[in-house]
Amino acid sequence: MTRAILASLSTLAFVAIAGPAWSQAPAQPAAPSAQPPAPSAQPAAPAQPARPQIETTKVEGTDNVYIFRNGNHQAMFIVTPEGVIATDPVAYGRPNGGQQYVDEIKKVTQAPIRYLIYSHHHFDHIAGGKAFKDAGATVIAHKRAKERLAQLQDPHTVVPDEAVDDKRTITLGGTTLELSYHGLNHSDSTLVMRLPKDKLVFIVDTIPVGSVPGRGFIDIYPLETEDFIKQVLAMDWERMIPGHPGPGGRLGTKQDAQNLLTLMQEASAEIKAAAREGKCWEPVEKDFKLPKYESWPGYANGLPFIARRYCALWGRGT
Ligand SMILES: [Zn+2]
Repeated sequence: MTRAILASLSTLAFVAIAGPAWSQAPAQPAAPSAQPPAPSAQPAAPAQPARPQIETTKVEGTDNVYIFRNGNHQAMFIVTPEGVIATDPVAYGRPNGGQQYVDEIKKVTQAPIRYLIYSHHHFDHIAGGKAFKDAGATVIAHKRAKERLAQLQDPHTVVPDEAVDDKRTITLGGTTLELSYHGLNHSDSTLVMRLPKDKLVFIVDTIPVGSVPGRGFIDIYPLETEDFIKQVLAMDWERMIPGHPGPGGRLGTKQDAQNLLTLMQEASAEIKAAAREGKCWEPVEKDFKLPKYESWPGYANGLPFIARRYCALWGRGT
């Protein structure tokens, strides 16, 4: 444990996280919006100390679990005497991001990076794996991710060496990491990663922490996601590391997962009724609101994505 890491950990509480989960890296062009940005009803927030682009922090209460954050994306890595298990390079649009992540790991340990595990197949989380491959890591992902990445041949994304079907347990240097697949959700390739000893899970994008889902709703599997969240709630864990920092950088809880499930069930029921009255898409996209969640980050941006996705489901059958 270096003093620098302890220092960076102590700054975490002061870090302000801008933007909802599932938002993209600032370097990316903004997606075309169906409507102009809503005028802000709130006074400008007081100035916050600037957040560094890259930050590595040890997860409080653990011996060897770290979070590497690059912009608004983050990943978990685990250090053991026999090597490092890393996840998600988070380097989309950041040509040096993978190497910077490897360099951050090297500041913590000289042990070799043995594994790089992809949370799911979306490039904003997994581009940049070459530096890990060059360092000798074996790249692992769900089998659908491996199939899809082999088809797409993205120049910035390493195709996995090994595929996981439903379950795999990685044991390295006294640490056990369980990888499991629980059906369709935010993607068709999401692996839940669980550290039984620490009661921690790393789940990317499917369960945003304390914020309204947004752009990630474009291609979500809504009904299957409800089932996914119920399965996750039934697992044994206490804290969730999300793929985008939660408000103030906090980790997620089962309450966050339950809150999202409730939000989805409420949105789904409301739009189902509207769809059956023939109101999809235009009237629903114009009128749909979730006032209960107005104060959550990402509310105004997220509504149109939620309305459109549930209209596709209940108004079209997709
Ligand atoms: Zn994703």
